[in-house]
Amino acid sequence: TAAAPAHTASEAAEVLQRVFGYDAFRGEQEEIIEHVVSGGDALVLMPTGGGKSLCYQIPALVRPGTGVVISPLIALMQDQVDALRTAGVRAGFLNSTQDPDERRLVEQEFLRGELDLLYLAPERLRLQGTVELLDRGKIALFAIDEAHCVAQWGHDFRPDYLALSELHARWPDVPRIALTATATEATHTEIAGRLGLEPGPDGRVRHFVASFDRPNIQYRIVPKADPKKQLLKLIREEHDGDAGIVYCLSRASVEKTAEFLVRNGIEAVPYHAGLDGGMRAAHQSRFLREEGLIVVATIAFGMGIDKPDVRFVAHLDLPKSVEGYYQETGRAGRDGLPATAWLAYGLQDVVQQRKMIDTSEGDDAHRRKLGTHLDAMLSLCETVQCRRVRLLDYFGQRGSAPCGNCDTCLAPPATWDGTIAAQKLLSTVVRLQRERRQKFGAGQIIDILLGKKTAKVVQFDHDGLSVFGIGTDLREGEWRGVVRQLLAQGLLAVEGDYGTLVLTDTSGEVLGGQREVPMRKEPEKPVRTSSGRK
Ligand code: ADP
Ligand code: ZN
Repeated sequence: TAAAPAHTASEAAEVLQRVFGYDAFRGEQEEIIEHVVSGGDALVLMPTGGGKSLCYQIPALVRPGTGVVISPLIALMQDQVDALRTAGVRAGFLNSTQDPDERRLVEQEFLRGELDLLYLAPERLRLQGTVELLDRGKIALFAIDEAHCVAQWGHDFRPDYLALSELHARWPDVPRIALTATATEATHTEIAGRLGLEPGPDGRVRHFVASFDRPNIQYRIVPKADPKKQLLKLIREEHDGDAGIVYCLSRASVEKTAEFLVRNGIEAVPYHAGLDGGMRAAHQSRFLREEGLIVVATIAFGMGIDKPDVRFVAHLDLPKSVEGYYQETGRAGRDGLPATAWLAYGLQDVVQQRKMIDTSEGDDAHRRKLGTHLDAMLSLCETVQCRRVRLLDYFGQRGSAPCGNCDTCLAPPATWDGTIAAQKLLSTVVRLQRERRQKFGAGQIIDILLGKKTAKVVQFDHDGLSVFGIGTDLREGEWRGVVRQLLAQGLLAVEGDYGTLVLTDTSGEVLGGQREVPMRKEPEKPVRTSSGRK
């Protein structure tokens, strides 16, 4: 039963103003809201900060019954509900953090029709009790937040989300709106399929895809030398006194980096899952409240954080996927003012992540998926094209023009013909692969190319190889660049615990001279560690 569109539109606009205090809809919000209010399913792809919440909150207020919001962000539910209640919206949540009495109160409110919005953790839908509860109340709509979690091909799959495919079978008349800030075309299609999203009253399945471009974010990816010092330089020279987020892969490096910044007179606090809940909450609320605080965090930080004036997001370690990178950098500059997304990345990152993938739980298909995600990230790092063009392309937005606001646009990287260097390096790998028992990483191969008689080179008689010393025309740092770029181009692979370099199916094309290998030039003066380590 389609509601009269004109009526819907005015009612939605009225709610927008009265409840949320905004004068106008943003982007496609109005269309999305109308579509859902009139009973249609929708898949909404909108970048972080785009205004997804209103797309289900307003229809929940306009339609009779309670809007049920499925969200994996349990830690945020209390805040979301508090904020809604302050605005006069009757909201509640059900998750594992509550005691049974609290839950019973919320359930009664729902059954009495006293809730506009009910937030649910996905695992609750697996409980028969929850399903029966929902059956006894009146549901206005289902909103599936972070909908990419249902996609097994995505970077953030959660098994609990698979249960959501049952929603339609059980409540066929309740419209569903799936929302995500991160999805490639493949993930997008998988979401629609798994949730069985249905055509609306107008006979069409509506996909609403907002542009993924965040024009005010300047993307920069630099070679990693001494990341903490590089970061300090970035902060001092460009972001003095600004709020920012620094991502590190491990808890230990989060702690060390935060200490390092504080020692250098910069206000910074750590945030990771190893800290106790009270401290995490305190650091998070300081970050939201204060003007120029820096949070050094593992990726546990930031899901759903809505701070408009984050001026930079820095990655000291390589993100595991382009989706993750986009999501994390997307927390910068939500106010539309200039912001920086800065990433330092080095060969060690690649070796470490391959190792993590090789030893990760799950089957081969899972590992292959992780590998594909990493490869995409690597090729973004090593591209000589506009970073934004590559990012948008990855998310299916093809054919945009170079942006003028990323490092490769601002200072186009010089390229050089790396074919011969690639051949030298790959031939060395071939020689070492023949020594089946022994596995060698980039360090040994570069030592051989440079003709260095290190203890390990002598031990394995590698100074007797025909390739010994054939690479003295390049510096060590340049060879590491060659390895990284060959990895990024899929012409070389690493495997095993020691970061062993091995050939790929396409390496032969380079060795046989059928394929040229253009490479990005390393900067003339790489940032050096003053302590002279390594
Ligand atoms: P998302 O979930 O897409 O990351 P949110 O729904 O949290 O984004 O919205 C981001 C910010 O934009 C919030 O502060 C929200 O209040 C604000 N916002 C959303 N829609 C509008 C609008 N139509 N007018 C003004 N501000 C809006
Ligand atoms: Zn660009």
